[in-house]
Amino acid sequence: MNQNTQQTKPVILLNIDSLMPRPLEIAIQTGRAPALQYLMENGSYLSNMVSSFPTMSVTIDSTLLTGTYADKHHIPGLNWFDNSQQEVINYGTGFRETFRLGMRRSIHNMLYNLNNVHLSDEVTTIYEELAKSGTPSASINAFVYRGNTPKRLHTPKLLSTLTHFENGAWTTEATSIFSLGSFSKLRPRSIATQIAAGNYKYTARELQYLIRKNRLPGFTFCIFQDMDARIHFRGPMDLKGIAKIDREIQKTLNLYSSWEEALNQNIWMVMGDNGHAPMGSKYRSFIIDLRKILKKYRIARIQRHVHKKDQLVFCVNQRMAYVYILDKNLSQPAIVERLKSDNRIDIIAWKNEDNIHIESGMRSGSLNYSPDGAYMDMYEQTWSIDGELELLDLTVSDDKKLIYGDYPDALARLSSALHSHSGRFIVVNAKPGCEFKAQSTPFHLGGAAHGSLHKQESLVPLLIAGTTAKPKFRRFVDMKEFILQLASQQHKD
Ligand SMILES: [Zn+2]
Repeated sequence: MNQNTQQTKPVILLNIDSLMPRPLEIAIQTGRAPALQYLMENGSYLSNMVSSFPTMSVTIDSTLLTGTYADKHHIPGLNWFDNSQQEVINYGTGFRETFRLGMRRSIHNMLYNLNNVHLSDEVTTIYEELAKSGTPSASINAFVYRGNTPKRLHTPKLLSTLTHFENGAWTTEATSIFSLGSFSKLRPRSIATQIAAGNYKYTARELQYLIRKNRLPGFTFCIFQDMDARIHFRGPMDLKGIAKIDREIQKTLNLYSSWEEALNQNIWMVMGDNGHAPMGSKYRSFIIDLRKILKKYRIARIQRHVHKKDQLVFCVNQRMAYVYILDKNLSQPAIVERLKSDNRIDIIAWKNEDNIHIESGMRSGSLNYSPDGAYMDMYEQTWSIDGELELLDLTVSDDKKLIYGDYPDALARLSSALHSHSGRFIVVNAKPGCEFKAQSTPFHLGGAAHGSLHKQESLVPLLIAGTTAKPKFRRFVDMKEFILQLASQQHKD
């Protein structure tokens, strides 16, 4: 095939939530995933793409689409405290799981504020960038969707009383081709059996419709949000979810005269969003209750607005949490000392005036770092660093190269969370097997959880077929540039 034909291919990125390298490889080796096997054997397989931090869907999707970490895109997690409004922002803790149960504030935050208020307007999405050069995009089943085409979305009757939108309808800037469950559909007469999110058959049919109608735009982002809930409950090695979604991908590839032809005509990419860490099964050993550790302080309660007397707020993102210090007279070191007394708390991080400080409940010593300096990591980022490197499982080679161990791209990712929003707060990570709990946060004993900086939940697979190109670095934050190169080339010549 000549260079020019290759340059005009539509790019289709399928994001399978919670797809992890080991289960993917086993599903393929045991014949459970023929479509993914075909893409792997006829393309490139990268098993260790670094996700963003916290390893929670909205933060990750925002990184993927904007090519920035949370310090720039400003989506700090599923659960965070908005200092300017003095309120907890929750896009639905456990998001995909509790979305269907419906919570007025979560729904409004997730469907409207996330894209229209919180996602920084200093950054652009892939969709916005492509639109500048006249390339349209499609977004199917994604909650982060900001584009520049006004779209009228309709809340199903059942939910309309739970939203702040007049008559349950609102206008938002989205992609020109936009599908989100029953809020916005491509096929006019289709019925979404779920409101949005977990509905792999519906999601696949929306994609197949575009192919059948010959309407695939330059870039299509399609998320299957079905596996996360299963894996939280069943643990990381559940293969059934992969097999089910693979069948839908098979049907999609079958729309072409051959699978080879599907690859001739398009670039196909399949990736996960975050991994999962297997959880211990005993409550007392594996659930870290922040309210207990910090019980001598006045902790804000989530049902009501923050009081003047409240000293602390907790926003838990499963295996990661933000601990906010509202009381100006309360010293940060006192809170850190309490947190350090629990040896199930791994990395504890906060920012000082000009650097980031790390301590741990598992290891002694401390570490300080800041951007720019004599040490360079594999992503060509330079850092000043001093203290116990072991706290972030870092090693330094003789020529001052920094090598990451258990916490991929740890320095940039931690720094991004600490600079993702205003306020005085500490970031804590749970040791493998453990997760945090505050007031009424879901937990996953005997199952799996994510959120932390650890490689268990940070490394996800990426399959690329239909092109031999690869992203510059194996990180989500580098995908935007990669996709723009692939999708916008067709307009350059
Ligand atoms: Zn999850």
